[in-house]
Amino acid sequence: SYFMKILIIANRLPVKIERTDDSFIVKRSEGGLATGLGSLEIDAEMHWVGWPGIHVENEDEKREITEKLAALNYHPVFLTGEEIETYYEGYSNSTIWPLCHYFFSYVQYKAEYWEAYRRVNGLFCEEALNFIDDNDIVWIHDYQLMLLPKKIRDNRPNVMIGYFHHIPFPSYELFRVLPEREEVLKGLLGADLIGFHTHDYMRHFISAVYRVLDLNCNLDEICLQDRIVHVDAFPMGINYEQYHQATSLPEVKKISKRLIEELGDQTIILSVDRLDYSKGILHRLEGFANFLENHPEYHKKVSLAMIVVPSRDAVERYADLKTQIDQSIGKINGIYSTLGWTPVYYFYQSFPFNELVALYDIADIALVTPLRDGMNLVAKEYLATKNRKPGVLILSEMAGAANELTDAIIINPNDTQEIESALLQALTMPGKEQRLRLRNMQKRISTQTVRKWANDFIAELLHINRQNNEIF
Ligand code: UDP
Repeated sequence: SYFMKILIIANRLPVKIERTDDSFIVKRSEGGLATGLGSLEIDAEMHWVGWPGIHVENEDEKREITEKLAALNYHPVFLTGEEIETYYEGYSNSTIWPLCHYFFSYVQYKAEYWEAYRRVNGLFCEEALNFIDDNDIVWIHDYQLMLLPKKIRDNRPNVMIGYFHHIPFPSYELFRVLPEREEVLKGLLGADLIGFHTHDYMRHFISAVYRVLDLNCNLDEICLQDRIVHVDAFPMGINYEQYHQATSLPEVKKISKRLIEELGDQTIILSVDRLDYSKGILHRLEGFANFLENHPEYHKKVSLAMIVVPSRDAVERYADLKTQIDQSIGKINGIYSTLGWTPVYYFYQSFPFNELVALYDIADIALVTPLRDGMNLVAKEYLATKNRKPGVLILSEMAGAANELTDAIIINPNDTQEIESALLQALTMPGKEQRLRLRNMQKRISTQTVRKWANDFIAELLHINRQNNEIF
């Protein structure tokens, strides 16, 4: 082929690095992104640039890690403690994240956050430039690196640049509050192709570009003086087969069996999220509390298993939320528990794959109620895992996944009464209807896999590049 490499640039490298007494151990950590990209159907060398997820200041140690990672074609960008606080926890997670998730009043405006964001995007650019030649493909990921497409374009005008935004893009009326809106949009427009999970996010982005930058736009293109930026929707999927076959793994079977023995004939409602205010965890608990209050006939029969994965706990909002969740669960269990029945099983920890899929397997209902969510992969993973027995998905209309999973019970997560009635509907849904809905949704997610997502994106980038070469 006429191009040489694909360079993936994301905030985090797909690795876990552990410090030993005198060295470091590097382990791959295959998340969805790494899986999808690992199965690209084009013949090119793949490189990654990103933060290695470990804080080191010692130059010898940095060199050692760099060498170990180079063997995997991973290239680390080391960040100082101050940079993690201002670029990552600051501008990325305390400014952009709440803004894109419609938590307007949570948005922090601090000059030093922005300054660090710019500076660190520059560091990523510097590192990436070491590995980019003409005719390479550069694929930049997510809201931590929105200035990077332009920075790369300024230095390497002839490479193909794609950007994918993994979180929602808010409507112009929200986005306009960002003091740096102009520079952020110009940063993104360095790309040839900008991808979102849904058409709504795409529409919001184009309208922001039109109103902030006064550029010529149509439904899926932005016309610059010297080139066209394409915008499209690519709903991200999962590795369907990995989940669908998981319940036949002996280890998973063993865990499922143990859970079923322990739980007896209790009905299990499952919820799984990172600790985040966008996930609607408190609303969900309120909905469940209403349900228990108004439906005593389900006492001792139904429990909510709530997994909250620790996340960003250095950010104050997150620490506060944790306290509120603890209190809310304590209150529900305090009122309704009996010696033999706990209404809410609460896990503030991360689960390994085998245990997570065993929970998906045994859960009768998945209750997914984010107030905003770019996509929500947990909903898809739950459905994909189901094959031994069916189950019901209750899904927020505010999750990107709701566009695809239309056979779920769709709810507005702000309406705790609707959560309550959805639970009732799910608990009484006949097995036949459960199977029918499940089959429709499995059909969809087994074709729209993460692998297809990655291949579609790269194929469109290549297509655009061919078009450009013909026109300009
Ligand atoms: N997850 C995990 N261990 C856990 C709980 C969740 O690895 O104990 C994974 C889960 O399988 C899913 C991801 O975390 O792939 C969460 O993705 P999602 O899109 O639902 O939400 P995000 O955290 O990206 O906002």
